[in-house]
Amino acid sequence: MNTLPRLDVPTIAIARSSQRFPVRRIYCVGLNYADHAREMGKDPQRHPPFFFGKPADAVVGSGAHLPYPPQTADLHHEVELVVALRQGGSNIPAADAASLIFGYAVGIDLTRRDLQAEAKKAGRPWDMGKGFDHSAPIGALATGVPPAAGAISLTVDGKVRQRGDLQDMIWSVAEIIAALSTYIEVAAGDLIFTGTPSGVGPIQRGETVRGIIAGVEPVEVSFEP
Ligand code: MN
Repeated sequence: MNTLPRLDVPTIAIARSSQRFPVRRIYCVGLNYADHAREMGKDPQRHPPFFFGKPADAVVGSGAHLPYPPQTADLHHEVELVVALRQGGSNIPAADAASLIFGYAVGIDLTRRDLQAEAKKAGRPWDMGKGFDHSAPIGALATGVPPAAGAISLTVDGKVRQRGDLQDMIWSVAEIIAALSTYIEVAAGDLIFTGTPSGVGPIQRGETVRGIIAGVEPVEVSFEP
């Protein structure tokens, strides 16, 4: 008889803990900062949030040295606040959403922008532009509910490329959880990337990318030359 594959649940680090947080699913919000919506040529009106996903095993911890992703000549960084859920549900009122949160971290929604642009143009799915191997670097989780305001930034080789504030999110974390839970049942182990401020741009081979949110451990990954 053939040997069955043995699969491990992907996990991410928790600050000041030897335990790790198991990842069930990764959801991402598109265009949640007005200045980023504008730089992508979109109307920054308060349209209902929209969602896409990444595979759970796309997570990679801070300090990783990554292969440059294949099939792209335009790998982009998007620094984002990530929330991790300890509990789930459907049709969760925004007022109750905070009680589902285990913690938060800074993550980078790596994007093969050229593949995403081709997909948009052709009316095709974004999956290969967003959901590739190692496409979700994430720092250690801080426990508790994320702050509603505070600096979020990203550097490439030490140069600031993105700078924003969590208070400029179009949809708050609670509103995002409420909206997402009308489409699917969210559950313990889910991660939600909450959108990126302006300044997204390319990462070259050999460069080091660092995402920073005040109060949490930064996430840093470097790419092979
Ligand atoms: Mn994003």
